Amino acid sequence: MSCPFCTPEIIAKQTILETENEWVFYNLSPKTKGQCLVVPKRHVEGIRELPAPELASLLQTVQLVSKKLQAYLQPAGFNYGFNEGAIAGQTVFHLHFHIMPRYAEDGVKNQHVFHRSPEDKIFLTDAEIKPLVEEFKTIF
Ligand SMILES: [Zn+2]
Repeated sequence: MSCPFCTPEIIAKQTILETENEWVFYNLSPKTKGQCLVVPKRHVEGIRELPAPELASLLQTVQLVSKKLQAYLQPAGFNYGFNEGAIAGQTVFHLHFHIMPRYAEDGVKNQHVFHRSPEDKIFLTDAEIKPLVEEFKTIF
């Protein structure tokens, strides 16, 4: 299987920073100015496969990139996140963390990437959330 994020030509074209464990790519298809990807050098598809020290390293690099983007672009906010699995929108099956600066009127329709559409205003009732909290406490 060929992986774009393990391909030297792509690494050479998109890398804006290289650390010990990561590459930071400028997104080939950015939704906003400055959108970057932090990509572990180790080829893994998802977060559960990355050794914990490398996950910590990845998040440290996310923080570093965020600080640089904040200083350089002065965005009003950021969206951060992983898409894992085709159903979740993962298109490159090599783990990567999106850093998307947000600006007033940046044209991105749904500001709540991890929420339902803000217009929906759908929230769980107390009766609905209580059993879910109890159920999910049991898995830890
Ligand atoms: Zn890869």
